[in-house]
Formats: sequence, C-alpha cells, structure tokens
Amino acid sequence: MICYLCKSEKNEDEFILRKDGLRYKMCMDCNEEVQKKKLENKGKRLFHTEKDRTCYKCMRFLPVTNFTRRSTGTYFSACKECNKYEFSHKRRARLLEAGGKFTQKEFNDLLKKFDACPMCKRKWSDIPLPKHKKVPWTADHIIPINPLPGQKQGSNDISNIQPLCFSCNSKKGNRV
Ligand SMILES: [Zn+2]
Ligand SMILES: [Zn+2]
Ligand SMILES: [Zn+2]
Repeated sequence: MICYLCKSEKNEDEFILRKDGLRYKMCMDCNEEVQKKKLENKGKRLFHTEKDRTCYKCMRFLPVTNFTRRSTGTYFSACKECNKYEFSHKRRARLLEAGGKFTQKEFNDLLKKFDACPMCKRKWSDIPLPKHKKVPWTADHIIPINPLPGQKQGSNDISNIQPLCFSCNSKKGNRV
C-alpha cells in the first residue's frame, strides 16, 4: 500500500485497521505526526491565510488550490487528497453495508435489455465518450445505497442496478 501523505510504499500492517476491516490510507508514522500536531493545536483555530489553508485531517498547510471550493466561496475543511481517500473508504464501507453483490456477467446480461440510457433516452452509440472512459454507461443503484436521512437504503444486488450514462449518473450526484 502507498501512504497518500508520505507517498512511500509500506506493508499493509503499517496502516491502521479500521472497525469495518478496511485500512486507513495514511500510514501509522504519518498518523502519529498528525495526532501530535492535532494535540499541539488543540483548542486553537486552524491557521488559514488568503493563499494557504490547514487541512483538519492531515494538518498540512497547503495552497488553497488543494481544497475544493464551494459555490458559496467557502472551502472544504479537508484537503482534496484527504477527501478523496476518506470518500472512497466511506463508499466501500457503504457497499459492504448494503449487502448483495452483482457480477460483471449479471451486469452485461442486464445491459442487453437496454439500448439507451433509461434517464435521458439517448442511445448508447449517440453518447460522446470522454477521453478516460471506454463505455458510456455506469452501474447505478436505483434505490441509493447512501440515501438521504429517513429514506431506506438500497441493496447492492443486481435487482437494484440499472445502467445509466455517466452524465445522468453524475446528475444524481452523491446519491448513488
Ligand atoms: Zn505516511
Ligand atoms: Zn488533508
Ligand atoms: Zn443519460
């Protein structure tokens, strides 16, 4: 595994095991450093200037370009890297929690029933492909596996899957 902070390749057991069986992407050495800095800064406000900000997760002081800016002009409190690794963790944890799984074959069989995106009705062949994509569709959870509070959670079973084009999928945003 590669630690996203110090970028060095380390053995799996040098990363903290989480309750859900996954491991943090930050190595124990870096985590120790971060905890030390957090202690030093306890009770203090994080240091921000106009050009740089402190990430509350990794405690690094980074240029603002490393932080996602909201449309309201404020910034996320975790840097992009922390956000990314934290999010992928949460997503995988949710997938586990949702239960069920589908195979590539099941998805391919399902795909045969669709010649167009069920949401925007564009034919797969009419959808322009972005550079990094090989196919225009993605597997979408019909009932989201990360629902809004109070809504029921969908499963990760093939019965809850539909192919959606990537632009419809991204319109659904975080509610995958
Ligand atoms: Zn590290
Ligand atoms: Zn960070
Ligand atoms: Zn679509």
